[in-house]
Amino acid sequence: MKKIEDYVLSIPDFPEPGIIFRDITSVLQDPDGLHLAIDSMQQLIGETEFDVVVGTESRGFMFGMPLAYNLHKSFVPVRKKGKLPRETVSMSYDLEYGSAEIEMHSDSIRPGQRVVLVDDLIATGGTVEASIKLVEEMGGQVVKVLFLMELAGLNGREKLKGYDVASVICYE
Ligand code: IMP
Repeated sequence: MKKIEDYVLSIPDFPEPGIIFRDITSVLQDPDGLHLAIDSMQQLIGETEFDVVVGTESRGFMFGMPLAYNLHKSFVPVRKKGKLPRETVSMSYDLEYGSAEIEMHSDSIRPGQRVVLVDDLIATGGTVEASIKLVEEMGGQVVKVLFLMELAGLNGREKLKGYDVASVICYE
């Protein structure tokens, strides 16, 4: 049986020379890959009690939404600056390549709600660290941080000390 890593394509020198881009479109375009990815992430949530899946634009939507749907929880997007129509909270952060600003609707998390944060991949951890800050600013409690893939060599976990972090595949 194929493992999830068999569905991920590794693209050298994208989007810049020296970067190996882990492409998940090849996972999603295969029905077995798609099932395996979502089921594997759901298994890592296990018995964790929570209220909301928060997914980061854009690949965090692809994995966060089916998890929220399967587990009958709500889904809240973290979006790039300027996309959300109502009042927002926002945060700037550094990326593996460049910098960015993300936003959430300021009423999207109620104080005390338990949040599972989902993205496709953790590299330096900047994106997820900024997302955690936004959730906590609104009074949410991050009970799990979940990825399909982790680039361990970039030490993203260092930024997530004290959080319950899990990933399906770990690349050194
Ligand atoms: P970080 O903020 O450095 O941890 O970067 C993680 C963010 O960049 C995630 O939202 C990913 O979707 C994206 N990203 C960085 N490298 C890759 C990659 O190799 N494949 C897919 N997404 C990536």
